[in-house]
This record gives sequence, C-alpha cells and structure tokens, in this order.
Amino acid sequence: VEFVKMASECDAVNLGQGFPDFPPPDFAVEAFRHALSSDFMLNQYTKAFGYPPLTKMLASFFGKLLGQEIDPLKNVLVTVGAYGALFTAFQALVIIIEPFFDCYEPMTLMAGGRPVFVTLKPGPTQEGELDSSSTWQLDPTELASKFSSRTKALILNTPNNPLGKVFSREELELVASLCRQHDVICITDEVYQWLVYDGYQHVSIASLPGMWERTLTIGSAGKTFSATGWKVGWVLGPDSLMKHLRTVHQNSIYHCPTQSQVAVARSFEHEQLRFGQPDSYFVQFPQAMQRARDHMIHSLQSVGLKPVVPQGSYFFIADISDFKSKMPDLPGEVDEPYDRRFVKWMIKNKGLVAIPVSVFYSVPHRKLFDHYIRFCFVKDESTLQAMDEKLQRWKNELGP
Ligand code: PMP
Repeated sequence: VEFVKMASECDAVNLGQGFPDFPPPDFAVEAFRHALSSDFMLNQYTKAFGYPPLTKMLASFFGKLLGQEIDPLKNVLVTVGAYGALFTAFQALVIIIEPFFDCYEPMTLMAGGRPVFVTLKPGPTQEGELDSSSTWQLDPTELASKFSSRTKALILNTPNNPLGKVFSREELELVASLCRQHDVICITDEVYQWLVYDGYQHVSIASLPGMWERTLTIGSAGKTFSATGWKVGWVLGPDSLMKHLRTVHQNSIYHCPTQSQVAVARSFEHEQLRFGQPDSYFVQFPQAMQRARDHMIHSLQSVGLKPVVPQGSYFFIADISDFKSKMPDLPGEVDEPYDRRFVKWMIKNKGLVAIPVSVFYSVPHRKLFDHYIRFCFVKDESTLQAMDEKLQRWKNELGP
C-alpha cells in the first residue's frame, strides 16, 4: 500500500503490483456481459457453496486434471477470490515455505495457529549467467525437522509468488511423503497454474498417490482469466476436510457474487472445448507472458539489476547486491531493510516501482533476504515501453 501511494505521487511506472493492465480475453468479457443481461434472477443470491453450473464445471475440469472423481456438492467450494479460499483453509498450525505470499502468516495467526518457517535457499550460479528460480530449493533435512506432532498443515505455493518457482515432481514427492508420514494437511495455492514457461510442467500435489485425501487445492479466476476484480476463487478437496471449510464459509461470507460465477463458469466452458489447442487462452496467455518476462528481464539488466529467471507465475525477483555494496547508505529508518530503502530510492529517482522482497519473509529472516526486489510482468506493451524509457534515462546517467 505504501509503495503504491509513493508511485502515484512520483508518476512512476508500476511494475510492482500483481494485476494485468490489459483487458481479460473477449470470451470472458462476453461471458460477464451475458451474466448481466440474461436471467434477472442472476442478480440474486445463488447456492451458498457455489453457483451450481460453476461447481459442476470445476468438478469436471479439475477432476480430469487431478485424476479424481470430484463431486460438485462435496468436493468444491466457491469463494471470494483465492484470498477467501485461503482464509477458510487456514485454521491451524502451519508450516510456511519462504518466500511466501504475504497473507499466509497473518491468516495463520488470525486462526490462532503458529507459523513455522522453512526457507528456499538459492543454489550456486555460473559466473556471468542469470540465476533461475529452479536453483532455489528446500533442504530436505531442514524441512523434515519442521514437522512435529503438533503440525496440522503445510502451505505450498506453486508456481510461487514472488519467486516464480515451479516445484518439480520430485520436490513435491518429498513434501507429500512428509505430509503422509506426519498426518499433515497440505494447502496448495495454485492460482498461477497456467503460467509456466520454458517447457516446465505444473504438477498438482493432490494428484500424487495418497494426497487427494489430505490436500486442499486453491485456484483463482482472477489469475486464470486476467480478471482480478471478479474475485472468484475455489477450493477443491475431500469431503472430510471440505465440510469444515463450508462451516467457515457459511458463517462468514456465505454467498459469492452470482454474476461473476456465471462468467467464470462460461469462461471455463470455453476453455474446456479448446483444452490443449493452440487457440486456448491457457496456451496463448503463458506464451504472451513469457515474451513480456523476457522483455523485462533483458531490459532490467541494462542498469545492473540481476533478475532470477522465473519458471512460472507473473513475478520474478532481481538481485540488487551490487547496488547494496556501491551505495549502502540510502536514506531510511534505522533498521529498515535495504530493499525497502532501495525501492523508495528507485521510485523517487528512477520512476520505477517494484516491491521489496523482505516483505515475503518472516521478521527474523528479513535481513537475510533484503537484497532482492520483486517485479511483475503481467503488463501491457505500453507499460513495458514506458519502463524502457525510464531505464534508458537511468542507463544514460550511469555513463559509458
Ligand atoms: N495466492 C497468491 C499466490 C496470489 O499471488 C494471489 C493474488 N496476488 C492470491 C492468492 C489471491 O488471489 P485472488 O485475487 O483470487 O483473491
């Protein structure tokens, strides 16, 4: 919130916040228009746990992907965005993998749980080559040491925000085997599941042997159809867990907007007919985002930023250690992590907005990861051009 406010005051290009600055695909906009203008009863409440054609569609679409018979009434809950889904799921003592989407920690605390953190560590990189999110890995012994008899759940986010890491099948198998061994629930946030690059594959942990029974899989129409304002999300899981989420949902939000759900149901219908085909949005969108990713990564290097190439999502982080050693004394509060001071400096002096990565870590670990900033590349061509102009000016100031 602080950085967005600064950005508007400084007329800066916003490469920080995670939302598309281009329209959703035509078929999705048309689906929403249809929802507004067809049956007037769509202006009223629908079923509390989801508009029936949408729960049916999610059950059939994800049932195939997860290799699971999904009952629309027992295994699907539609929520107000993935935020709503996460909120209904977080009611326990949770292991959180760092860097993490920032609401996981407060949601655990609000539910009276205790967050336990385990950090992805960057691996070695070759001299002169960019780092990749794939080198950031969990230490299996450290991960195992975080499980105790009191652990209730582990939250996984793949593709990950802010790093863009896509967990491999082997990495997921390790997490799955620990969850099974300690009888722990896995909450998996897969809102960026369609945004995977360079031939990497998204694997849902719920599709691994013995995991459906203990996994809550979370998705978002906002990310799926580039329509973050629609705020439709969902959770899929076994009835034994879903019945508790339904209780939380029924006594907090109860109903989600009907027309948004109609639009999402129709958009999925459109995609189901084209699944895996070249004209599918789930094929075209990642191709367009890979181009935007490559453009931004290439441009940012011209001023000495060192991007960590993401395998997925629409974010990446960039290493600013060189700046930290060259200009360590940027203005800021005593104890303010370097990345926060750097972002404020960059907004004011260079007209570019990013997000400090230390906000995606627990307080004790922030100092260890205060030399990265996060960029978002789900941006229109005109935004990338505006970025290039700012970077060119910055480069000129650096001199030859
Ligand atoms: N999970 C992750 C990892 C996210 O990045 C976001 C949005 N930034 C959400 C969940 C929330 O999604 P929604 O907008 O559908 O609530």
